[in-house]
Amino acid sequence: MDAALDTEEIRLRLVSVCDLMLEKTDVLTKADQAIGDGDHGVTMARGFKAARGALQEQAFATPGEVFKTVGLTLMSTCGGASGAVFGTLFRAVGRNMPAAQLDAESFVQALASGLDAVKKRGGATTGQKTMIDALEPALEAARAAAPEGIEASLDAAAQGAAKGLEATKGMIAKTGKAKTLGARSVGHFDPGALSLSLMLLALSQKATPGTR
Ligand code: ADP
Ligand code: MG
Repeated sequence: MDAALDTEEIRLRLVSVCDLMLEKTDVLTKADQAIGDGDHGVTMARGFKAARGALQEQAFATPGEVFKTVGLTLMSTCGGASGAVFGTLFRAVGRNMPAAQLDAESFVQALASGLDAVKKRGGATTGQKTMIDALEPALEAARAAAPEGIEASLDAAAQGAAKGLEATKGMIAKTGKAKTLGARSVGHFDPGALSLSLMLLALSQKATPGTR
């Protein structure tokens, strides 16, 4: 069982999340061009660039504050459906992470609250080909691995999201812009599910102190 993660470690990992999202703009653009309107890469880049700035400029007392700040920034800068969806996710995760250190149990609890909040806010549910289809298996995997500690739980979440992302390929879109394509949406990843799995991948990797 490994130790819990402190606020600075979480801040550094979320900077890595921002960097990866900025790096993947073109991939996300292409994913959204295939079944949406093509703005997802630019929307995410706008939000995560601003979030990266906030993570550098502000001081944080808890991991929850770090997530909340990212959420508020995404909400006010991204635009698009995904700004509300991912803003809601990060805010809810942050609100439900009160302790000064992040352990596996509070990660699972916070992620579960994030999933609930996204469902309430957007009205979408499982199997409609959205980021929910990556988030739900991520949560299940994180919960199953929680007894092994926070790093195992984060790894499992990233792997669960990757599996969920893969499964979105076979789904027919039932909500959002891709809905109009119906069966023609099959064979493509959901762009938001791709974003979510990238975020959890970066979050699962240990930060290198002093680099950012
Ligand atoms: P827009 O749909 O406004 O063009 P984006 O292209 O940035 O916004 O984001 C689209 C992604 O947002 C989708 O791939 C999906 O994963 C996610 N999304 C859209 N609507 C919802 C919703 N109601 N619930 C959960 N996720 C959603
Ligand atoms: Mg779009």
